[in-house]
Amino acid sequence: MAESEGFPLAEPGLWVERTTARSFPAGRPALFLDRDGTINVDTGYPDNPVAMELRDGIAPVIEAANEHGIPVIVVTNQSGIARGYFGWDAFARVNGRVLGLLAEKKAFVDMVLACAYHEAGRGVLAVADHPMRKPNPGMLLEAGCRLGLDLSRSLIVGDKPADMEAGQRAGLARGWLVDGEGSTIGGFSVSPLRGAHHVEDLLAAIRSL
Ligand SMILES: [Mg+2]
Repeated sequence: MAESEGFPLAEPGLWVERTTARSFPAGRPALFLDRDGTINVDTGYPDNPVAMELRDGIAPVIEAANEHGIPVIVVTNQSGIARGYFGWDAFARVNGRVLGLLAEKKAFVDMVLACAYHEAGRGVLAVADHPMRKPNPGMLLEAGCRLGLDLSRSLIVGDKPADMEAGQRAGLARGWLVDGEGSTIGGFSVSPLRGAHHVEDLLAAIRSL
């Protein structure tokens, strides 16, 4: 596909990009983050970089992981691409803007994975229940492989139950659900992330890794 040229695609529907030059010894735990609704305000299939806004409280979480040598990894479902709403070029612009807004706050993401596959998609992107699409754990496992992570000590922050399920199925230690409730999924503990005191709880967990 000509429109995909020059983009870091591991396959037609999977973006895998190292976004810092920081290196990590094998066996580190990671901080995984969903993007839309977790890092930036979810505008619904966001395709306009100018409209992107960070959510309150998330940049300090990423900065804490940076300071503690914890790799920060974005794992984002982008079915808008399969559905034909926008292309990888628009994804690149929006994602670049989100990473730029974080960088203005001295917060840096080390790797980005994005999955475009969806059953309602077109052409090669029309795949139901693709292993890389959350709630499947494929993107987390792929990052774990590439960076030699200790997934069993890793954390995930997301705004959907699918994010928490992906974390549980990847064997992560714990999750935080933006604007959600605490729960347990098969021994995997999910904590709410609704305000400053919950952010403090997450920061403490990152600092104790
Ligand atoms: Mg989300």
